[in-house]
Amino acid sequence: ADRQLVNRAHGPYEARNRIVPLRPQPPRPNHMRRDAEPDGDYTAPAPARVRVLVVGAGFSGAVVARRLADAGFRVQVIDRRDHLAGNSYDYVHSSGVVVHKYGPHRFRFSNERVYEFLSRFTEWKPYDVEARSYCNGTYYQFPINRRTFNEVFGLNLTTAEETRTFAKTLQIGEGDPKNAEEYCLQRCGKRLYELLYKYYTYKQWHMMPDKLPAAVVGRVPIYYDDNDLYVRGKTQKLPSRGYTWMFERILDHPNIAVSLNTPFEHRMMSQFNKVVHTGPIDEFFNLTLGPLPYRSLRWDMIVHEKEYAQKWYKINYPLMTEPQTRDIEIKRLTGQKIPRTVVLREYPMDEGEPFYPIPTPANLELYEKYKAKAASEYPDVTFLGRLGEYKYLDMDVCVEKALKASDKLLDTLQTRARQLAQLHYRPSLHRYAIQVPYANSVTLVAMPLSAATVPFATALAGGCGPACDFVFFIRDSQNFTLPFKATYVHSVGQPTAWFVRRFLHPSLVRGYDAIQILLPEPGDAPDRVLSRARTLPAKQLLCSPRRFVYVPGPDWGCFWASMPFIDRQRCKPICLPMASHPFPGFHLPASVSDGHVLVAMLVDQMALPLAYAVTRAWNATAPQFDFVFFAFKEVGDVDPEWLRRVTLITVQDHMKWWYFKRFLVPAVTSRYQSLLLMDSDIASAPEFPIRRFLHIANAQRFALCQPAVRPEGRSTDHPFLHPRRGMSARWTNYVECGPMNLWTGHAWAEYWPWLEYNRSIGWGVDFVWCELLVKMGLGRSLARTRAACGVIDETPILHAGPARARKSPKTRMGQSYRVEGSRQLRSAWHMARSMRLKFMDYSGLHRGHQRVYLTVPQEAEPLP
Ligand SMILES: Cc1cc2nc3c(=O)[nH]c(=O)nc-3n(C[C@H](O)[C@H](O)[C@H](O)COP(=O)(O)OP(=O)(O)OC[C@H]3O[C@@H](n4cnc5c(N)ncnc54)[C@H](O)[C@@H]3O)c2cc1C
Repeated sequence: ADRQLVNRAHGPYEARNRIVPLRPQPPRPNHMRRDAEPDGDYTAPAPARVRVLVVGAGFSGAVVARRLADAGFRVQVIDRRDHLAGNSYDYVHSSGVVVHKYGPHRFRFSNERVYEFLSRFTEWKPYDVEARSYCNGTYYQFPINRRTFNEVFGLNLTTAEETRTFAKTLQIGEGDPKNAEEYCLQRCGKRLYELLYKYYTYKQWHMMPDKLPAAVVGRVPIYYDDNDLYVRGKTQKLPSRGYTWMFERILDHPNIAVSLNTPFEHRMMSQFNKVVHTGPIDEFFNLTLGPLPYRSLRWDMIVHEKEYAQKWYKINYPLMTEPQTRDIEIKRLTGQKIPRTVVLREYPMDEGEPFYPIPTPANLELYEKYKAKAASEYPDVTFLGRLGEYKYLDMDVCVEKALKASDKLLDTLQTRARQLAQLHYRPSLHRYAIQVPYANSVTLVAMPLSAATVPFATALAGGCGPACDFVFFIRDSQNFTLPFKATYVHSVGQPTAWFVRRFLHPSLVRGYDAIQILLPEPGDAPDRVLSRARTLPAKQLLCSPRRFVYVPGPDWGCFWASMPFIDRQRCKPICLPMASHPFPGFHLPASVSDGHVLVAMLVDQMALPLAYAVTRAWNATAPQFDFVFFAFKEVGDVDPEWLRRVTLITVQDHMKWWYFKRFLVPAVTSRYQSLLLMDSDIASAPEFPIRRFLHIANAQRFALCQPAVRPEGRSTDHPFLHPRRGMSARWTNYVECGPMNLWTGHAWAEYWPWLEYNRSIGWGVDFVWCELLVKMGLGRSLARTRAACGVIDETPILHAGPARARKSPKTRMGQSYRVEGSRQLRSAWHMARSMRLKFMDYSGLHRGHQRVYLTVPQEAEPLP
């Protein structure tokens, strides 16, 4: 969607409203093949697992993003404006004339590397422009050259040498100029300074030149020949189809996602390994040291119904007699042929977009303070560009700097990627490899269930025998009891495609020979439907609007990836070439959820009232929750009103981690900012101050955390998880597997591949996951002293614990919890060893040994 948005942005020339065809994608590994090497599953190549956030889609941001994407890193670019290209954005004005929204931009360069890099995305056209300064009825040549000397002083200088000699007689003072006034006087004397520079500079900066550093006028050259051209020594060329067009190309890469209208927020950082910030550095720190001042501009666009309105590209107004500083006829730069023209009239302003940093010594000192703060507090954030470095930079300089910065970034990120490569998940090392979740039957049958189709479903089950597993999607509030084992998913009002997309993720159904989706109507005979489906060629089935879809297992991934395009009512899939679907790194359609936090909670009949209460209480506090409840037993009557707001999944005989593995697939959860996993035995859950809890977790940027456990609870195995007086939160390298864990979406996506299906209880994993997340670069990436995990003391919970646990079913293996627990612990130990992680001994914990290492709190980081 973001990419489409980009393409819709007003572009110049014929690029306007153009739809960019999807570029062919490199071949992707076939994740669906049953004989595929399992080690490759879910673990994208190492660089792709390093995620970088680039703030700002101007020259600085776009160049870095592209270079990192080319090297295989995944880059998210955000910009708070509704277009790409930063200040160089150009578009077609309502008059038909191509204009530069933030003022005319002339590209000129001398650096070959810059030219070569940009030439990958655009062709060029040369330009030449001339300027004059209008004073008291005369248009003087500008920048100053021999003709200006002649015009102002009424002379007839004929050679550059003569002019230089004359200029020398005008010059006042020598040595290092202390300010802009001294600089001008030393170069051109009082008369020219007062005529052409003094008030122009005042109008532009709202400060007299003697208060400004020499650098602000140093950009304007003085020549002694009579060549009228504005710039010498640099090649002057414009992107032939405009800047915006070129930016679309730079950012058009499968590893780059662009989100416009998206201002940077600090909480975003927890989702990325690295941040490149090209926005204002003072804003990043919420102006804590004070604002860095900028000068801004207003541009009036004056349309003239004639081919040209003025004789030159630019006319400066350097005296106080006119309020504007310059008039620019943009067509003289772009060379556009059109019978109308637009003059951009510039008015400098105090307020508005931050355009020109004001480089006074006081401001530069303040900037240095921000820079030092950034280096000590945010070593993983790189500040770049005109706003990040608080310095006026021409576009070519920005590109040059961005190329150098990305060289440096690539060095560090590639080291990071190599470390991650060593962390690839190897099921073969693992006792409990990822397994087929439902069963090992031949076909998985998925079907919406309603009162009318219950007989069909029952007959179908009878006719299929044990070779089929059944999943039923229930989109109304009725509760069915079927005489055979099946999985039910209740989610009111969702279309079939939504269920399929969300619950039949290819990674989870790859053990099946085929997946069959049925949309029966009363009167359909199950055996006929099944046999017909199986005899049709897959392609025909995929493309035809039938009431059943039968997809051979190996093709399921492709089919599933095309799900957003399915006609909801008739389940009519439109086949798109596999290559056009980035798989599996795509986002679910917005209809899945717009929630920020996905709350997943285990329920049984006893815990159902708690689930109702939690849903109501939390939804009332903050409406951005999505709830999914997992019932490991039939839960009987369910309040239909409540069911409207949640998803309830019932699968018999399975336990917590099985559900989490099965239904909280990263492809689904990555839409959420956070993921809250909850047990059903939290006595204080409805009153739990969820907003505050989330706020602290966000502020501390925990990748994984839990609330502290109140000591009066019955399940308080771990004394160090009790709240600590006076502490909001503390960093830790131990987070319990229950009773309540909060993950960032990103952390969960990283952890999920390591999660075992057969894990019925969490013991042991708690000793591994904190270490694992840190190794994956979460948490610590933001500030070296920070760990990834934490305990939040300010909002403790009361864990009811063992009383309920005793009533819970036996583990899936049919063993007692204790036996199962020690088995899991052994498995966790193996896991830690295979990953070369530090493993903490649980038995040591009980005996109060110092073998559980808590960093409480980490000294360098004062917690609120
Ligand atoms: C009036 C004017 C005329 C100029 N003319 C020329 C010229 O002729 N030739 C030349 O070489 N250079 C010119 N420049 C300079 C040129 O504009 C800059 O060199 C270039 O735009 C800098 O690129 P950048 O990526 O660093 O910053 P920008 O182009 O400003 O891009 C930064 C982007 O970051 C975004 N952003 C900022 N903060 C946030 C945030 N918190 N969250 C999300 N997004 C954010 C902004 O919306 C912006 O799009 C001119 C500049 C101005 C102001």
